Parts: sequence; structure tokens; C-alpha cells
Amino acid sequence: MNTQNKKQNVVEKKQQSCPYAKKCGGCQYQGISYEEQLKKKQKWVSGLMKKHCPVYPIFGMESPYFYRNKVHAVFDRDRKNQIISGVYKEGTHFVVPIDRCLIEDQKADEIIATVKELMKSFKMKVYDEDTQYGFMRHILIKRGFATGQIMVVLVTASPVFPSKNNFVKALRKVHPEITTVIQNVNGRGTSMVLGEKEHILYGKGYIEDVLCGCTFRISSKSFYQINPIQTEHLYEKAIALAKLSGKEKVIDAYCGIGTIGLIASKKAKEVIGVELNKDAVKDAIFNAKRNDIKNVRFYCEDASKFMVKMAEHGESADVVFLDPPRSGSTETFIDSLAMMAPKKVVYISCHPETLERDIRYFKKKGYNPEGCYPFDLFPWTGHVENIVVLTRRK
Ligand code: SAH
Repeated sequence: MNTQNKKQNVVEKKQQSCPYAKKCGGCQYQGISYEEQLKKKQKWVSGLMKKHCPVYPIFGMESPYFYRNKVHAVFDRDRKNQIISGVYKEGTHFVVPIDRCLIEDQKADEIIATVKELMKSFKMKVYDEDTQYGFMRHILIKRGFATGQIMVVLVTASPVFPSKNNFVKALRKVHPEITTVIQNVNGRGTSMVLGEKEHILYGKGYIEDVLCGCTFRISSKSFYQINPIQTEHLYEKAIALAKLSGKEKVIDAYCGIGTIGLIASKKAKEVIGVELNKDAVKDAIFNAKRNDIKNVRFYCEDASKFMVKMAEHGESADVVFLDPPRSGSTETFIDSLAMMAPKKVVYISCHPETLERDIRYFKKKGYNPEGCYPFDLFPWTGHVENIVVLTRRK
């Protein structure tokens, strides 16, 4: 165990308990001490990965509370016809009312409470999924922990927002720290929170945060890691494992708003990022300029298709970072990567099972996993993030 891990493994002695634990279903590890949670995650990852490479001690949080920088709530009415906000009970569209949460940013929860009050005084209708009647559906809040900037996204069923200016004014009077307010229109009978269309009601329409010395613009629909404290450690480790010298051509696949590639660009010759979400790519391009980084290019495409094209054009790469969604990467991606023959691959994963599946395929394609580094980005939940570093067999 390295000293940094030892320090981080210090566990809060006084555990806090959640009044909604049984109903909410968001935290599978409620009622289990944090120390025990880390052990369970370690065991899970070891069980899957130890046959491939050494699994290092999990990097836990010093204080595993209020770490989520992104908070979502759905609005509904209870039996007494009072406005409630909360989460869908797992697998249903029944709303469990939640006023405060042990893992969510506390400021975000305060803002949600204020919005509920304002909805009452503005006589705003809550959207009813059954009758498809009403206006306000969801609220999404993102906060830059390093900058203090806060985005509030109000998801409405229709585009016409009565007294929108007064509503925003009243909200900002209670919470002047809100830096942007967006109306997102989602009129569809869908389980997706956000719709296509957006109107900026106040501010710039995005927030910024700082990670590893770079400033990042984050839009409402772009992916951004939800635990910035742990993410900094995760990215630092991932980039250190790549052992960049300044001469490398680097690919950052599934790059989101460009975080890993932009941070790594300072230690590489050039970086190519690829990402499917067009809003995230726009943010990534903006972020390169924002940080005055010139050796980076971003492409909006499916990562596997992009890798096939690169390989077909006889392009090479020295290091590939990949950070796919829970479903993992694809054999097509790994086949093309192997054709480009980078000497190092750094795989960042939020799902141990798809990671293990992909590592098995990487081995077939000439890559040896050298080590697996678990990070607890999601205390109280059953999720765990991992980095696996692979090197090409000679
Ligand atoms: N590396 C980034 C984002 C990781 S999350 C970060 O650390 O913030 C995974 C990202 O993969 C998301 O931004 C998602 O939009 C993107 N994605 C999902 N499917 C994809 C695909 N087929 N091709 C490229 N990107 C994809």
C-alpha cells in the first residue's frame, strides 16, 4: 500500500445515517460502515482482476459525504397534494420524496427546497406523467466545487415559461451563488431527464470547474465526473501510469469535455480526443482554448468507428487512454487499437465486469495488464472506478 493510499484510507469514525435508505435505493451500502464498503469493493475487484494482474489497495475518501457535484430530482405531488421532490423508486415511476441526502452537495439540496417553495408561490403546476398535464418535471443542479459556480436546469414539459424572469430573480435572491439558470424542454413521455431544446434564462449557460490545474467548461448535457475530489486523484494516477515524456502521440477515447487529454497534453507531443456527445465535444474544444492548449484536437464520433478509420489510414499512437461508459469498449475498438500498436494503454472504467471482459480481449491482442488501481468515486453505492494499465508485448 503506498503512503497516499494509507492516508486516504482513514475512515470517519462517526458514521452518519440516512433516513431514506430503505425507500430510495440509491445507496446499496447504507447500514454498512465505510471501512467495510471499501473492503467489499476491494474484494469484488480482486475477484475479477487478480487473475490478470496485481490489484492495488482501493483509494477511499477521507470524508465520504456530500461528494456529488451533480444532483437530480423529479417533482411530483403527494396524497395531500403537496409538491414533493425526490427520486424514482428503483424500477418504477413512483417518486420517493427526499429533502436531504448524505452524498449530494448540500447547497444543491437547499436550492431544490427553494424551487419547491417558489413553485407554490408562483402557482406552478407539477407535471403529471400519467395525464401528461402540468409544467415542471425535473431539476438538475451542477456545482463546480473549485469555482463555486452553480448551474440550475429546470426541466419543463412545454416551452412557455410563465413569469420566467421573476422566477429566476426570486430564486437568485435566495441563492445569489447560482451563476446560470437553464430551461430544458422535455415534452416526451420518456425516462430521459433532459430534452433536446434549451433556453438560457440567466448567465452563460454553463459552469466551470478546476481539476489538476486546468479549467473546464461543463454544459448541462456533457458528462463530468460526479466526485471531483476523487477524480483529481484518479486522473493524476492515470496520467502518471502513462509515463509520458513529452514526445508521445496520445489518444483520449471517450473523452467527454476533454479532461484527461487536456491535462495529459502538457506532457505529450499531441493529443487526439474522440467523443460521441456533441455538446461535450463543443466543451472540449472550448476548454482547449480556455487553457491555451494548442497540441490537442477533438473529434465528434463513435470511438470504435474513429479507431477503425485511424488504423485504416495507417495512423499510429504511442499511448491510448480510454474511459468508456458502463457498457465498456468494443472488440472493434481494441482490434483497431492493436493495429496502431501503442506501447501503453490506460483503461479507466466505472464497471468492473465490462473492464474484465475487455482486459481479456486486450490480452488476446498482445497487451499485458500490469496493474489494477481501484478508486472509490461512489461511497455508499455499489459502484467502483478502476484504472488498468496495459503494455504491449514485444
Ligand atoms: N473521459 C471523460 C468522460 C468519461 S464518461 C471524463 O473523465 O470526464 C464516458 C464518455 O463516453 C461520455 O462522455 C459519453 O458521452 C461517451 N461515449 C459514450 N458512448 C460513446 C461512443 N460510442 N463513442 C465515443 N464516446 C462515447
